[in-house]
Amino acid sequence: MNNIFDRSVSDIKGIGEETSVQLGEMNIFTIGDLIEYLPYRYEDYQLRDLAEVKHDERVTVEGQIHSQPLLTYYAKKKSRLTFRVLVGRYLINAICFNQPYMKNKLTLHETVTITGKWDQHRQTITVNELHVGPNVKQQSIEPVYSIKGDLSVKGMRRFITIALKQYGEQITENLPTPLLQKYKLLPKKEAIRIMHFPSNHQELKQARRRFVYEEFLLFQLKMQALRKFEREASAGTPLQFQESKVASFISGLPFPLTNAQERVKKEILHDLKSPYRMNRLLQGDVGSGKTVIAAIALYAAVLSKTQGALMVPTEILAEQHAHSLKELFNKTDVCVELLTSSIKGKKRKDILARLEAGSVHILVGTHALIQDEVVFKKLGLVITDEQHRFGVGQRKILREKGENPDVLFMTATPIPRTLAITVFGEMDVSIIDELPAGRKSIETYWAKLSMLDRIINFIEKELAKGRQAYVICPLIEESEKLDVQNAIDVHSMLSLHFQGKWNIGLMHGRLSSDEKEEVMKSFSENVVQLLVSTTVVEVGVNVPNATLMVIYDAERFGLSQLHQLRGRVGRGSEQSYCILLSDPKSEVGKERMRIMTETNDGFVLSEKDLELRGPGDFFGRKQSGVPEFKVADMVHDYRALEVAREDANKLINSPAFWEHPDYEFLRSYISNSGIIDGEKLD
Ligand code: ADP
Ligand code: MG
Repeated sequence: MNNIFDRSVSDIKGIGEETSVQLGEMNIFTIGDLIEYLPYRYEDYQLRDLAEVKHDERVTVEGQIHSQPLLTYYAKKKSRLTFRVLVGRYLINAICFNQPYMKNKLTLHETVTITGKWDQHRQTITVNELHVGPNVKQQSIEPVYSIKGDLSVKGMRRFITIALKQYGEQITENLPTPLLQKYKLLPKKEAIRIMHFPSNHQELKQARRRFVYEEFLLFQLKMQALRKFEREASAGTPLQFQESKVASFISGLPFPLTNAQERVKKEILHDLKSPYRMNRLLQGDVGSGKTVIAAIALYAAVLSKTQGALMVPTEILAEQHAHSLKELFNKTDVCVELLTSSIKGKKRKDILARLEAGSVHILVGTHALIQDEVVFKKLGLVITDEQHRFGVGQRKILREKGENPDVLFMTATPIPRTLAITVFGEMDVSIIDELPAGRKSIETYWAKLSMLDRIINFIEKELAKGRQAYVICPLIEESEKLDVQNAIDVHSMLSLHFQGKWNIGLMHGRLSSDEKEEVMKSFSENVVQLLVSTTVVEVGVNVPNATLMVIYDAERFGLSQLHQLRGRVGRGSEQSYCILLSDPKSEVGKERMRIMTETNDGFVLSEKDLELRGPGDFFGRKQSGVPEFKVADMVHDYRALEVAREDANKLINSPAFWEHPDYEFLRSYISNSGIIDGEKLD
């Protein structure tokens, strides 16, 4: 945008000192900011057939008063006015809070227009706006802005009307003509006017479409430029290894790779050999066999006379990974060591010394790996498992322990494709979308808490067959302490019940890592048959004889987390079961339970999770890293996102983009993001 739009909002008539301070609190400083402050929703007064209106939706209806309005007072000054309204062929109820004076304005059989929230079950509208007479606002769609302080929505409408009248004609286009033509997108000038003051839905849809594309394109350009410059700037060291040695390692495995593993292996080995630094995300559902892939990549790094690091979020997982890698490499002379905070003293010193000398080839550990004292001789490959649990900063420190080592991020929480290409737009993505043959799918049931007796019988039956089971304890948000207490309670209840028959173990986050290891060991050796645990068993734990998992309060978990937990069973050849104990109150809660019983596909679940919880919640509050778009919605507009991604890719790689005046705006957008100066997004 040109200069006018950089001028202060106080240049607009009617916006004084005080108002401009208030606008500033909403991050509106310039005229451009004001004009681009788009409504977050619209007030729609078009009449609709109630049969098409969903529960809890806002609606405007016109009808005749069908019962004498009844006014009742409660809690001192509060009042409720109720009456029945005949809307077409429906007789519905209307409730109007705290407007007692309306009673005298309403006459039986007279026409009224009411706007409010529709409760489908009670056939009732909770009235926000009540107007005697037919619907006069029929045609209007009014913008609603999110506002702060003393400002009003009406005030915002007025400021924006003035701003558009005065400066609207000077809004310049920022998208290149070829793209506008290709997708028949509205010009920016027109699209902005329509977003603020649409005259109908058709028009609004077109304006929205343009902004969705614009937001996605700009975002993708930034991500892809970052990727391009990163690649060109940080030429990694190409690893040099004999493919035949890797191949014979693979043929020595107890099983053939699945097609998906085969494909992913090729992608990764190709990256390792290339002069670029690998920056790849490996996604694969629980049990899809990522560990073997990690082992193959690490082996290639070791064959190239470099070292590998595998960083995981918990000690249990680190121990398990170290154990499986040692096993996988037992016929080779690859040396694998484990480093966690509970490895101390002489043993620790010895490992660190051998690491620095280069005789430890692969180091597995928790974030103990990123401490200063950990020095590699020559780090060639870094792998992190369950990558989104590590902060970007931690990953960066690990990466800097070598000279541009290749990096592979593994995750078993399948990230919906939509999120993967936004949040991880600067990475390459490999997907293992196939489970090894012969896996039985886990039968999942949803049971009410009142059925606990029957569930306990079911546990007993599985244990009697010689199997093992997990019971995951009630989750209380934000309070590890209470979670632990719950686990202790459930443990003593079950211990009492199964006294003398089976051994019941207890696992929670307050145990020391020695204690945890002890518990896990006795469970994996079948000394303990039933393990009561908090969610600490969520990732990675592998006990194939465990065939049953009972999860308390399942509605409190996200779908992806439930899927992770459930993935602890179904790891052997026996049929496995998962029972979700849950009495969800909300529709969404019930829907989640139903979805869990219907699918074992982590990708389907993660898409659903995203849909039900929204992108912000998907990764948890702290580290969402999910970009915020003003108009676009990553879930619903994902097709546009894919189109924009492809276009951004083509643009970045075409010479015309870097020269032609059509692309001037986009070029300056990229350079203003600080990418070209080498400043990274993370
Ligand atoms: P993930 O880490 O992806 O959850 P793992 O790597 O732990 O999965 O593998 C799960 C189990 O499947 C392991 O016991 C592993 O040995 C086994 N496995 C891996 N790949 C194959 C394969 N191609 N065929 C048969 N079993 C496999
Ligand atoms: Mg794993």
